[in-house]
Amino acid sequence: MNAPESDNTEPERLDFIRQIVADDIASKKNGGKVVTRFPPEPNGYLHIGHAKSICLNFGIAKEVGGTCHLRFDDTNPEKEDTEYVESIMEDVRWLGFDWGDNLFYASDYFDQLYDWAVKLIKDGKAYVCDLSADEVSEYRGGWNKEGKDSPNRDRSVEENLDLFARMKAGEFKDGEKSLRAKIDMNSSNMNLRDPAMYRIRHQHHHRTGDKWCIYPTYDWTHGQSDSLEGITHSICTLEFENHRPLYDWYVEALGIHHPQQIEFARLNVTHTLTSKRKLLALVEGGHVSGWDDPRMPTISGMRRRGYPADALRDFCAHTGVTKFNGMTDLALLELYVRGSLNKTANRAMVIIDPLKVVIENYPEGESEMRQAKNNPEDDEAGIREMPFGRELYIERADFMEDAPKKFFRLTVGKEVRLKNAFFLKCNEVIKDDSGEIVELRCTYDPETSGGKAPDGRKVKGTIHWVSAEHAVDAEVRLYDVLFEQEKAGDVPDGEDLMDTINPKSLEVKQAKVEPSLVKAQAGDSFQFERTGYFCVDAKDSSPGKPVFNRTVTLKSGYKPKPAE
Ligand code: ATP
Ligand code: MG
Repeated sequence: MNAPESDNTEPERLDFIRQIVADDIASKKNGGKVVTRFPPEPNGYLHIGHAKSICLNFGIAKEVGGTCHLRFDDTNPEKEDTEYVESIMEDVRWLGFDWGDNLFYASDYFDQLYDWAVKLIKDGKAYVCDLSADEVSEYRGGWNKEGKDSPNRDRSVEENLDLFARMKAGEFKDGEKSLRAKIDMNSSNMNLRDPAMYRIRHQHHHRTGDKWCIYPTYDWTHGQSDSLEGITHSICTLEFENHRPLYDWYVEALGIHHPQQIEFARLNVTHTLTSKRKLLALVEGGHVSGWDDPRMPTISGMRRRGYPADALRDFCAHTGVTKFNGMTDLALLELYVRGSLNKTANRAMVIIDPLKVVIENYPEGESEMRQAKNNPEDDEAGIREMPFGRELYIERADFMEDAPKKFFRLTVGKEVRLKNAFFLKCNEVIKDDSGEIVELRCTYDPETSGGKAPDGRKVKGTIHWVSAEHAVDAEVRLYDVLFEQEKAGDVPDGEDLMDTINPKSLEVKQAKVEPSLVKAQAGDSFQFERTGYFCVDAKDSSPGKPVFNRTVTLKSGYKPKPAE
């Protein structure tokens, strides 16, 4: 089954966000302009959920001739790093999007945010609070519990200005004071119960160095950054719905450009973690080889695994934009990956679990070249030559000694077709002392070179092979899901997330590959005949010594294996 073609025609019905954008353009809101942004926090590598947000924000801008900004939301110095900034830029570009000149950092607005905080203090809309974090949360109350005013709520403007300046100057320790917006301690929306605007953190920042020891909160930064950049549609995920009244309150209190915040449901995929925090724990715990481990749902991991960018884009487009949190089947993503690779990946013959075949009627010391189509889906991909000789390797699973009737591969006394070569018949099985099959003694029919017998006799099965003399040894990495439970990360009480990792998520094999694969370059993708799609690992391969990652199996859908 192939992935549906991505359609270039305009869809009949727009999703609700594109509809809002279309209506705003029609009514000339914001002068008919559309400016979106993708605002990652550089505290980890981007994952499949971010891909969805990137495709949505950059996609909408592209469709309507607007612009999309890339903005690093770098307000939390403790967890942020330039390594993450660079990986994020690489990932956005690889996905096929371009921010042009519109690269921004929230940290570039720290001076402006400070001045705006001073303005709110002067307007009596913000105050310095001495309560500790624990006290603040106690005073805040709860859903059915009234909030209680901070004892500092009615400080004079002068005192607030003085204390805020001294917070900035570094006179206080972490947590000793905070700046809070003065909104409503009894609002039914907890976010409006005098939210924090600044916290004291004596921390080095990856861009502003040691200039600041107070850092703005997410809520105090985000809308103002949107406003400064002239964002028209600030698209975020549903968990920010309750923050929208605060977003609106800040821009209204400052009297600045008011972007529209619109929320949509996060992308969740079965067997897949979409939380940077948990992915970081996998990396730091050494459970994977890094953020770009091919089992990771990060964009860099998926790229290294061999997922094509167009497959990710198509997947994101076709999972739609909704207001309801749901779960998308990993099988759908794999379907798009297969659909894309089927058109572009050249075929190759690789034996992952080799069993030796000796063709007794093939002349010793001789060999010949067979021709194989590189890609039956693409005539321009051409043909290649593969050596064939007296000794071959076939997949162990393609032979069965006591085969049931429906087994159409190789068994004693029956014939099978060798792909791009001849009919082969097995006459004898050689075993070692332990009874394991080590070799098959066979004969071939030289008259069946075209894949057909001149006398019209038929064979039912076709198997692949490589010439033992010419095959090259290569490491092949077979990946499976990192988490076998559908809802990855949904850990029962008392259990650790790391204990739920699939112990069979990586299996390393020494395979016999056809000689042409030695020339394969990092990142090249192939369909190993009858096995799956594989790509040349970009990190661990060296010239002439490719390491192959299994991108996806040939069969559709992931079905968890029953426990053994
Ligand atoms: P995480 O929970 O993994 O840390 P995050 O939302 O905190 O993710 P950000 O760097 O703040 O990560 O995200 C940047 C943008 O990507 C935000 O606009 C966020 O809403 C969006 N985003 C993050 N995860 C998803 C997801 N699963 N589906 C859709 N959009 C997402
Ligand atoms: Mg976040």
